[in-house]
Amino acid sequence: MSEIKCKHCTKNFDKDMHYCPYCRTPTQQQRELETAEIKKKFIRYFLILIVVCIFMVLWLPRNT
Ligand SMILES: [Zn+2]
Repeated sequence: MSEIKCKHCTKNFDKDMHYCPYCRTPTQQQRELETAEIKKKFIRYFLILIVVCIFMVLWLPRNT
């Protein structure tokens, strides 16, 4: 069993834990997972926004 040290409270805990059991600080690995998840969500919303923009440009009447 290997342990990692919490950056926040410097206590040791099992590396399989996602959060420090003492201060609830997420581990570096967990933080990276969460960041990747947020990035994925952001890209999805961004693509939806682009599709909506293209639709609006095509759908709205032009003043020509
Ligand atoms: Zn901690």
